[in-house]
Amino acid sequence: MISTCLDVNEKGHLTIGGADTVDLAAAYGTPLYVMDETAIREACRSYKASIDEFYGGKGLPLYASKAFCCKEIYRIMAEEGMGADVVSGGELYTALAAGFPADKIFFHGNNKTEAELKLALEKNVGTIVADNMTELHTLSRLAAEMGRRVRVFLRIKPGIDAHTHNFIRTGQIDSKFGFALETGEAEEAARLAHSLSGLELVGLHCHIGSQIFELDPFCLAAEVMLRFMARLQKEGIQIKELNLGGGFGIRYKEEEHPQPYHAFMEKVAGTVAATCAAEKLETPYIYIEPGRSIVGPAGITLYTVGAVKDIPGVRTYVSIDGGMTDNPRYALYQAGYEVITANKAGKPRNFTVTVAGKCCESGDLIQENTKIQYCEPGDILAVLATGAYNYTMSSNYNRICRPPVVMVKDGEARVIVKGETYEDLCRNDM
Ligand SMILES: *Cc1c(COP(=O)(O)O)cnc(C)c1O
Repeated sequence: MISTCLDVNEKGHLTIGGADTVDLAAAYGTPLYVMDETAIREACRSYKASIDEFYGGKGLPLYASKAFCCKEIYRIMAEEGMGADVVSGGELYTALAAGFPADKIFFHGNNKTEAELKLALEKNVGTIVADNMTELHTLSRLAAEMGRRVRVFLRIKPGIDAHTHNFIRTGQIDSKFGFALETGEAEEAARLAHSLSGLELVGLHCHIGSQIFELDPFCLAAEVMLRFMARLQKEGIQIKELNLGGGFGIRYKEEEHPQPYHAFMEKVAGTVAATCAAEKLETPYIYIEPGRSIVGPAGITLYTVGAVKDIPGVRTYVSIDGGMTDNPRYALYQAGYEVITANKAGKPRNFTVTVAGKCCESGDLIQENTKIQYCEPGDILAVLATGAYNYTMSSNYNRICRPPVVMVKDGEARVIVKGETYEDLCRNDM
């Protein structure tokens, strides 16, 4: 199985975190998001252990909460001693509502509104990652108005091509995110942030993309950022902290073999140490921001098969009771997934099908021409590794209710996000 939390039991049913997925589907209905708490906590601990080992504890992993956001995940992250990054007032509100410590929150975004920045300062959010000159000026003004000092990072475009999908590549110069190094903009921003009153420029940030398998882009980005830090130091601008972003790839398809995160961390830490030595820099305090790799492999989505439509010589459509409303990733960018017939998980996967959702869109597909166990109406399908960027990207298109999210721990399940009802759909209608 592609995730360690998945298995097949003596009944031939798929299990997650020791819970039988067929029983979960019967108890909570489908579609259903299921996540394994143990896998999530283990991922956090592995990142923390790597920081302890390779940076002597001088660093902190921040959970990138856009991957999966609800109150319970912030409670788990707080218990694991993680920091968190948020990218909107709504994520910030959720984190604070869950009691997540404000000082361990990093606030990102290329166009934070003034209301969002105000909220962040009011609630004593630890760090604002500034994206552009306008934001630096706004922050300085708000700091004066509110009598605050703001810990500021600058988001830098290190110009790294991370060989990932174009839509989620953000490190290069043609990106809406951050200050460009090549043009001198980043240096100008550092001078501005250093000189503006109310701002304390403590760090630099970069995030080179997502679902990246190679190690080299991360190492190169770290090197570029540290060289820039050394240049600023010569100008008298001391930067003490470095946030290297997230983007570590996970296994969606069986043929994918991502490096263990420990190996990522070790290699990047080696580059950090070597570059600091060469540039005569003190090693900065290091942050990383994994999102997908913490929650992605820990989640699956369960569906019930409705119609099975064989078009001879063309393909077989298996229609499910969810689709692009709970998982838009295939429709958006042809994301790969493994699909399993959960109640026949012990059988061979020799049935080639296209899994289609129930929306009025031909493009509402979850996977095309993929091999699953033979299935018929009423069977339960499991789409694997859906813990990241599924629930958070869900919508009410076609007035379809969002499914509940169930968290499993040692075989026991609990609802952490209720499913929506028809009344929920009409709640704001006048
Ligand atoms: C999305 C994002 C992350 C997390 O990326 P993953 O690929 O989920 O690890 C980290 N930092 C920033 C700034 C992001 O926008």
